[in-house]
Amino acid sequence: MIDRNLFEALAPKLAGRPVLIRWQAPYLTNFVGYAMNQNGKAIIDIDPNLIDEETYRVFLHECAHIKFHFALLSGQNEAHKAPKSETLNYYGQVLHDQNPIETEADKQVEKWKEYGEENAWKFFYQGKGIDLCLKALCYYPFPIPGPWDRWHS
Ligand SMILES: [Zn+2]
Repeated sequence: MIDRNLFEALAPKLAGRPVLIRWQAPYLTNFVGYAMNQNGKAIIDIDPNLIDEETYRVFLHECAHIKFHFALLSGQNEAHKAPKSETLNYYGQVLHDQNPIETEADKQVEKWKEYGEENAWKFFYQGKGIDLCLKALCYYPFPIPGPWDRWHS
């Protein structure tokens, strides 16, 4: 399992504001992640039983909603007032694929994933797999020096 501290440290950097991550199933049935604006406070619920790849993808997706759609999001008790911020099911299928805010969020997810994958190897000595993508993403969108740059300086 990925270190949850990594997600919690990275969330405000990607989302652009403080974010509370709650490792609990979203209160809406069938949802694996949910981003909320609870009276101006950003909260992301993530199903704690997902596999790592799915946790990573859902995390990025919800951070993108906080980044782009915070004003549109609603709180836990007023979900009916605003567009649903999460529409993904367990198979990663977008259920409301006509919703432009989902498309915008997923485009950002692709950018973050690409950056994480391209730069993960620079942290090879600090772990493996998605952990390294998360560490790399702490530097988004700036170029990360490779290990040899440290040795030269
Ligand atoms: Zn969404």
